[in-house]
Amino acid sequence: RTVVEAKQLRKIYGSKGNVFTALDEIDLTVQEGEFVGIMGPSGSGKSTLLNMLATIDQPTSGDIVIDGTSVLKMNEEQLSVFRRSKLGFIFQDFNLLDTLTVKENILLPLALAGMKVSELERRVDEIVDKFGIRPLLNKYPYHISGGQKQRTAASRAIVSRPSLILADEPTGSLDSKSATDLLESLKDLNEQDQTTILMVTHDAFAASYCKRVLFIKDGRMFTELVKGNTSRKD
Ligand code: ADP
Ligand code: ADP
Repeated sequence: RTVVEAKQLRKIYGSKGNVFTALDEIDLTVQEGEFVGIMGPSGSGKSTLLNMLATIDQPTSGDIVIDGTSVLKMNEEQLSVFRRSKLGFIFQDFNLLDTLTVKENILLPLALAGMKVSELERRVDEIVDKFGIRPLLNKYPYHISGGQKQRTAASRAIVSRPSLILADEPTGSLDSKSATDLLESLKDLNEQDQTTILMVTHDAFAASYCKRVLFIKDGRMFTELVKGNTSRKD
């Protein structure tokens, strides 16, 4: 099953005489159960690409189909429902709410969507051991470490059972031990539950957890690395 199909993506910023092509002719297909990395130097277009796939920004041209739905045809209201049900986000700086406990942070999106308390309890119980956060559930973010915060954020990303996890530099703020713990858990999630993960990273160690790594430079995909095989595109 194809989870992501992006075709001929182009993103041009600016207007009149002051335009910049941030993405050019990007094609990307991700199958269910893949763990794909996106690497490239600063300014190469990684965040721009991730924002398109996250449906928070639109390409200038091209097409994006996620889980069978053409996302460029949806309006804002449909997109917000789509993001909530189909996508899980993990950011570099965690994006937790300091006034809520770990458990409340994880369940907030589902609670806002109107899910019943009994079902919320069942969901949290289902995922709480995947990132080892059971002992943290009643703590507040300022009482836990960076690694624990990211494992909380990762738990929040999967609680809605999304079709696709989008992770933007998830290890960027973590020490080496916490980064390894997080990556090991993401790997288990990918291998055991067939969760599809797309991860932007600067970190070669993090990229080594991916089964396939795409390299972007100046807005163009130029190399793809699959388990030791390198193949040059164009
Ligand atoms: P415009 O079409 O008016 O030039 P853009 O859509 O290109 O606007 O820019 C959107 C926002 O991103 C603007 O607020 C702009 O200030 C900001 N921005 C401009 N250049 C950059 C850049 N190089 N990197 C990140 N953000 C930028
Ligand atoms: P990366 O995530 O690989 O560092 P980005 O996707 O953030 O790269 O940026 C790619 C290029 O597009 C950069 O040259 C950046 O300055 C430019 N850029 C990003 N956002 C905007 C914007 N809103 N307006 C104008 N230029 C932008």
